[in-house]
Amino acid sequence: MEALANLAEELHHKLAPMHPGYYDLDTCRHLAQVVEQIRALKAKRNAVILAHNYQRPEIFEVADFIGDSLELARKAAGVEADVIVFCGVHFMAETAKILNPKKTVLLPDLRAGCSLADSVTAEEIVERRKELQAVYPDLAVVAYVNTTAAVKAVVDVCCTSSNAVTIVNRLPNQHILFVPDQHLGEYVQQHTEKTILTWNGSCYVHHQITPENIVRIKQALPHARVLVHPECRADVIALADAVLSTSGMVEYARRSEATEFVVVTECGLSDRLFLEVPEKTFYKACKLCQFMKMITLDRTLWSLETMQHEIVLEEEVRQGAERSLRRMLELTA
Ligand code: SF4
Repeated sequence: MEALANLAEELHHKLAPMHPGYYDLDTCRHLAQVVEQIRALKAKRNAVILAHNYQRPEIFEVADFIGDSLELARKAAGVEADVIVFCGVHFMAETAKILNPKKTVLLPDLRAGCSLADSVTAEEIVERRKELQAVYPDLAVVAYVNTTAAVKAVVDVCCTSSNAVTIVNRLPNQHILFVPDQHLGEYVQQHTEKTILTWNGSCYVHHQITPENIVRIKQALPHARVLVHPECRADVIALADAVLSTSGMVEYARRSEATEFVVVTECGLSDRLFLEVPEKTFYKACKLCQFMKMITLDRTLWSLETMQHEIVLEEEVRQGAERSLRRMLELTA
């Protein structure tokens, strides 16, 4: 009982300053109980929890590993435990299953989808590739990891926001169809001699952030460094001091001589920065992703109790998607 009370106090102390009014002591007592139950069940099921940087801060308490898409993909490939509980969105859990098919991969809530992944289908890519190859015979198709397994299975290689430029530059092809994020595609175009043909997709979270938001913040905080995710619009990226993936932002904030930062991405990343780099100050110029926030501590416990929702993929699709993901890992090894 005393250990539980101490954990509740500890959570309250850590989380309350981040979200005033939300993590009161009663809430933290409940969270502490759930944290303890999850830790016990993880051991019983021989499970690990992988969590994306955009998750709720209490999820970080039970996570064995926290990271961005690329880090989580690499981590998932090497997991030895029997069960992977993925605290992130559906395409990320699929990626874990693609790279480590013998493991049971669980997603605590099937509503955790992604507007960006939903903006393209495998059939559309097959059709568009055919049209474009008539004009550009050397065309390669590069898919951001924020896509379904079926999409990954029909493209040449995957990429993440941290390695998109490297992947494109290391391909032998001159013409690239980049799907589905138009903003990341435009960002890549600025950093390559190759011709990038973009898709009309975007992340609804990053797309909402406008240059006017950032200009106002820069005027109020001229000394703070502005860190922007490449899923943002080009006119927002133009105002950045650094354009980085989420884990790139964590690394930059740790190493930088600057002490104040404006974080322009989904809000969960600011929570991770508050927890992991407490000696520096982070201002939120962020938006919430409703899909990421579907995953709660209660749902994570439920997932371990019921062993749901298990990710199941057709083997042919899985193998095709694995080929594109492995090529990404090889090109950036
Ligand atoms: S933040 Fe955007 S890209 Fe990431 S899961 Fe949410 S909708 Fe998808």
